[in-house]
This record gives sequence, C-alpha cells and structure tokens, in this order.
Amino acid sequence: MSLARTGVLVALLLSTTACAAQRGSPGALPDIQPGRRPDLETEEAGLWMQTDRLEADLKTSGALVADSALNAYVRNIVCRLAEAYCADIRIYILRVPYFNASMMPNGVMQVWTGLILRVDNEAQLAYVLGHELGHYLRRHSIQRWRDVRAKSAFLEFSGLLTAPTGFGPLASLGAQLALVGSIFAFSRDNEREADELGFGLAVKAGYDPREASKVWEALVEERDATKDSAPFIFFATHPAPEERIENLKAFAKKSALDGGHAIIGREQFLAQTRPLRTMLLRDELRRREFTGSQVVLDRLFEAGTGLGELYFFQGELYRLRDNEGDREKTTAAYQKALEYGDAPVETHRALGLLFFKTGEKEKARLAFERYLQQRVNAEDREMIEAYLRQLE
Ligand SMILES: [Zn+2]
Repeated sequence: MSLARTGVLVALLLSTTACAAQRGSPGALPDIQPGRRPDLETEEAGLWMQTDRLEADLKTSGALVADSALNAYVRNIVCRLAEAYCADIRIYILRVPYFNASMMPNGVMQVWTGLILRVDNEAQLAYVLGHELGHYLRRHSIQRWRDVRAKSAFLEFSGLLTAPTGFGPLASLGAQLALVGSIFAFSRDNEREADELGFGLAVKAGYDPREASKVWEALVEERDATKDSAPFIFFATHPAPEERIENLKAFAKKSALDGGHAIIGREQFLAQTRPLRTMLLRDELRRREFTGSQVVLDRLFEAGTGLGELYFFQGELYRLRDNEGDREKTTAAYQKALEYGDAPVETHRALGLLFFKTGEKEKARLAFERYLQQRVNAEDREMIEAYLRQLE
C-alpha cells in the first residue's frame, strides 16, 4: 500500500467519527439536504474542508482500485439507495485487505477491498453502503466532532497519528485502529440510527432484507475463529455486531417486502467482482492471518464459484503457513486446482517449484514445461528455464 500510513490513519480516524458519537449526545441535527455544503462560517464547513484535503490525498494515494466497471457498479448501488444524494457522494475503493467501509462528512465514502471479498452478493453490499449513507444523511460526523473536541481524549487521538509501531503497515493499521476503538465509546444510538436508515434505503431499493444481517454474521464467524479482534477494524470502530445482527433480523421480520421478489444480485455482484478476485485473494493472504483467511476461503468454496482459483489459493495458504504437514496439503490443493479449467497458470509453476524442492525431477519438469507453454510471455521465463536446465 503506497498511501502514507499517517494519511490513511487521519482519513480513517475522521471517518470513524461518523460511527462514534456519544450515547445521548445532544444536538441531533436535521438531515443534510441534497447538493448542500455547510455555510462557510460554520464549524461543520471547517470539518468538511479538512476532509476535502484528505480526499485529495486519497486521490493520489496509489491505493485506489482503478477498475472502472467496479467503481461504476458500486456508484450505481449508492445512487439507487439515495438517488437525490447521488451527486454528493464520492466513492473510493481502496485496495486494503480488511473489512471496512466508512463515510467522511463531506461525502467521501471509502470501501475497502477486504469488504468486497467478504460479501456474497449485491444486497449485502447495499446494506453496508446504506448504513454508511445513514451516517452522512444524519450528519453524525459533526455531532461526534463536537464531542471529541471537547474532550482530552482528542490529544490521545492525535498522538496516535504519529505513534511508531514495529509492525508492517497493515498490521499496525489494525493495531492502531483497535487502540482508537478502545479510546472511544461508540454510540449505539447513532449506529442503530444508521442501521435503521440504511436498512430502509436498501429495502426501498428492492434489496432482500434477509441479507442485511448476513454480512455481520460472517464477520462474527471469522472473528470467533481467529480469537483475535485486532485485525477487525470495523469492530474497532463499531460496537459489537451481535446487537446489530439482532436488530437487522428484527427489521427484516417487520419489513413488509416479500423476500421472494427482493433483489439478492448474486450474478451481478460476481460479474463485477470476480475479475478482481485473484488480486483480492493474493492481498488477503498477505495479511498472514491464516485462520481468518481460511474462514473466508471456506465461505467462497461454499458459494462454489471459480473452484480452480480457490484450490490454488488454498494451496497458497498452506504453503505460506508452512505448518507440519502443510507441504503435502499444498501439493494436493494445487493438483486439485488443476482439475478445474479456471486454475491460474501459476499453479503449474507453484507445483514445479514444490517438486523441484522435494527432488521429484520428472514431475517438476512437467509442471514447469506446462507453465511455459501456457504463459508464452512469462516474465520469469529465464528463471524457469534455469530450473529446467538443472533438471536435465
Ligand atoms: Zn457506523
């Protein structure tokens, strides 16, 4: 991630303000009107100007996913949810392998790729985006800003921005955000309000209300498997998801919409996200949180799309984890991948390298040759040919 970490953190911290107002804080404000910016002399305008600067940093961060089809797709969903505000919301899809979406007061919505990998269908995505829109419409940021500024916690808050850490950028991002989460008490009221408003928007747009709670259920499953909530940025900046799951289920029950006619949008979602999945899975494994990644992979296996690719990444997970017995599992997973037409070409190279290491020369040679046949312009052709010469 080439975005300066501090820049990301500032952006994130400001966006977490959207989810953090104190319970019972005074000053619930009227909803923001479409096309409106706050009056120049107001405090809210100052907050917007600060986030405008962050937006400029985001644009040049190098962390944005450029894929125009995906950007248009997410934008379309947002516009469907809140048509009148469509022109006021700018969407930034960031290549960060953690589950997160956030909203800045000036209409900047961030969606991280870790979220896209963890969502099953368009309806689930729509319910998350609806929640973030809820924070924007209700102007939760300015409520929270006033609250934070009035507290000494703000100093600790600022100190976090420059705190050195001994982890890689992604790990430290998670750790620092967990710290931020521990400093702030999150308002159940604002979260519930954003959930309720977002839910209403998504139902009105025709999305199946039963999908709303599933995103959080999946995250809880992942969190419970890892027994370590530090990487769960969304949990660090939001209250525990159990209550949200219950609320959303209750909303769904009450919803008059007939689920049978509601949009789930699995096909549309896959059409837009599937081409990027190889990149997202590679990023996911870079986290080196193998237990959590296994939960994510298991869910993708269950959905059953692109099994060759999934078995390849299952093999990659075993190879990188390198526990006892993982080498055999790696080989088996790569071989399984090749039973499907959509295994990445690298599967052959990966198998070749494995067999090369274990001294299974003939198998290594075959695998390397297949790799070079299938990827005629392979960048690493010279290296693979060097391996092949050693196998003669
Ligand atoms: Zn929120």
